[in-house]
Amino acid sequence: MKKTVVITGAGRGIGAACAKLFAKNDYNVAINYFKSKHKAKQLSDTINKSGGCSEIFYADVSNPSNVKQMHQEIKNKLGNPQVLINNAGIAQQKLFTDITINDWDNMLNINTKSTFLCCKEFLPHMINKKSGRIINISSIWGVVGGSCEVHYSASKAAIIGLSKALAKEVALSGITVNCIAPGVIATDMTSIHDKQTMDILKQEIACGKIGNVQDVANTALFLASDEASYITGQVINVDGGF
Ligand code: NAP
Repeated sequence: MKKTVVITGAGRGIGAACAKLFAKNDYNVAINYFKSKHKAKQLSDTINKSGGCSEIFYADVSNPSNVKQMHQEIKNKLGNPQVLINNAGIAQQKLFTDITINDWDNMLNINTKSTFLCCKEFLPHMINKKSGRIINISSIWGVVGGSCEVHYSASKAAIIGLSKALAKEVALSGITVNCIAPGVIATDMTSIHDKQTMDILKQEIACGKIGNVQDVANTALFLASDEASYITGQVINVDGGF
């Protein structure tokens, strides 16, 4: 039977690349979007026209009732997911002294609380089935800390702590929980940097180039596979040797 994957923030960027790759590999794909309905619909149409199976689902994943509602709709249309990819996220560059309480709350709500909410929502079914995969998209800044991104770094480090602890709690239920920590990947999120900043970042990368969304999607597909069943509580850096 086909498996279902739910990917948060899958209308564009890394999430969209995961959606395409999982669809190609015979998963039913639940594409979550928040503001990018049009892009999510286009992506879903492309997947379905090429023989895949996907549906789009609205939710602000930082909102508990939205997440609950999305789960119900996914269950009805595609069945309960065996794989959850917590990918939705925001970034912001600011000096620490300029970060407002609102900035902090927004960052932690969208990046971290969303991961907590989606795990809570989709985990019980995985526990019942004694099988499942949770893949949380952290960031290299969550591992090493990024200057002028204290709230972003904190939100992504918290995802690592959550993942390592949850991995231990659910391992005997046949569920793995891992993080991917991307480095600098070409998406809308990094397109805000000017050429000079990107050149400086490139010099920090051993591979000498910016990563692409496919690099992250390939890692997510592997972590979801049977071949990765003995890998849990890990952080896989996909950063070209940053
Ligand atoms: P992106 O192109 O800016 O996409 C962000 C995605 O998050 C969008 O699909 C957006 O959905 C979704 N999103 C934001 N707020 C949401 C909310 N409240 N509810 C549901 N979805 C929401 O960014 P990206 O580069 O693909 O990033 C994806 C993930 O990778 C993020 O967690 C990011 O922190 C992480 N990451 C990225 C990089 C990088 O270099 N690009 C590096 C490290 C980690 P809508 O457009 O529908 O609102």
